[in-house]
Amino acid sequence: MYPVPTSLSPSRVEAFTTCPMAFRFSSIERLPEPASVHTSKGTLVHRALELLYQHPAAERTLQRAGELFPQAWAEVSASDEYLRMGLDTARADALAAESRTLVDRYFEIEDPTAIEPVGLELMLEAKMGALTLRGIIDRLERAPDGSLVVTDYKTGRAPTASQEQKRLAGVHFYAWLVQQAMGERPSSVRLVYVAERKVIATSPTEQSLSFLPKRTAAVFSAIEKACTTGQFRTSPGPLCNFCAFRQWCPEFGGDPDKAAAEAPIVYAIPSSGA
Ligand code: SF4
Repeated sequence: MYPVPTSLSPSRVEAFTTCPMAFRFSSIERLPEPASVHTSKGTLVHRALELLYQHPAAERTLQRAGELFPQAWAEVSASDEYLRMGLDTARADALAAESRTLVDRYFEIEDPTAIEPVGLELMLEAKMGALTLRGIIDRLERAPDGSLVVTDYKTGRAPTASQEQKRLAGVHFYAWLVQQAMGERPSSVRLVYVAERKVIATSPTEQSLSFLPKRTAAVFSAIEKACTTGQFRTSPGPLCNFCAFRQWCPEFGGDPDKAAAEAPIVYAIPSSGA
């Protein structure tokens, strides 16, 4: 009934387990999701840090980050995703200022002059049967002991102590991708929460990584079945409050089969002044 995907990112695999119906809308029907200030802020901070790390270690200063920020802002503010929001000047200025503050705050967490990246915004992929798994790693570097370290920047809220393990469970996927692509298991995967100056990390083990292919195969089998039968179940929960597809969700009285026809109209780029 629906084409079975041949490639998935780790985040898409997790998306299916969170809510199959939302996965159908976003990953199978590929309906556009509305841009958000939060997403644009994340893109801007990631790009600003990527530009910084493209420079030699000694040049990665706070001042240089400030000099590079306008380039990142020019790129992000010209993107379709950003333009879809139709922000007025005051909100655009606030977004740029808040993002710039996050870049400055990043320097309170790490010393960029002491880090030598092996890769930035590194696209890695690995085959798992008929499925290709792809993921982008913000930064891959060598630790002083020579081992590989994966670093992922986050601009949202840091997890509470009780949420940390769940948040870290997903990042083992990135370690698995590195191991498959480079033949080396990273010693650490770090999540850097810039806004709260917090870093949480986990050390992947052979056992934690060996579990991933089995789990992913099981999730992919469920995706195949849902695509073949057309049955994507709903999974209502707190995330429904942020779901871009709520108006077509049966849990809220919507008709999923109308989404494909209606979504492009709903998310059209606003006219100037809107
Ligand atoms: S509203 Fe909730 S149940 Fe419905 S598709 Fe979105 S996340 Fe799933």
